[in-house]
Amino acid sequence: MPRPIRCRRIGFMPGVTYFKPTGIQLTNLQESVLTFAESEAIRLKDYLNVDQTKAAKKMRISQPTFNRLLSSARKKIADAIVNGKAIKIQGGNYKMVTPRGRNFGRGRGRMGGPLAAGPGGVCKCPSCGYEESQIRGQPCNQKKCPKCGTLMVRK
Ligand SMILES: [Zn+2]
Repeated sequence: MPRPIRCRRIGFMPGVTYFKPTGIQLTNLQESVLTFAESEAIRLKDYLNVDQTKAAKKMRISQPTFNRLLSSARKKIADAIVNGKAIKIQGGNYKMVTPRGRNFGRGRGRMGGPLAAGPGGVCKCPSCGYEESQIRGQPCNQKKCPKCGTLMVRK
């Protein structure tokens, strides 16, 4: 049996997994297929502007690997735009990580290691940068920073 490929950690599941250009018959339609991991790389870097080091950490992959995912995702999206292809987002090796640290879906392969964020996550003061662990069931935005009194945000 081949060694399972390490799966990627993703923090969201796209609600839409198929993008089709109008005016093209299905029979003539070509697809550009992105993996969930690639769409996650795009989401973190290009949509949320997370820097690459942090984004790679979130996905538990090395920076070069993250960079490869990002490049291939961008290339596929560009290919779809330039050549009028549909974009399909599917599978690959992934593990769904929710904010509470539970595993939702599981792709092929297996995962090791503890989860990145502990249960509850971290609250951060947007004003002074003070951080503390979030108390389970208590949203960060209901808590004031003990240092400066600003309402905290979820990190
Ligand atoms: Zn503060």
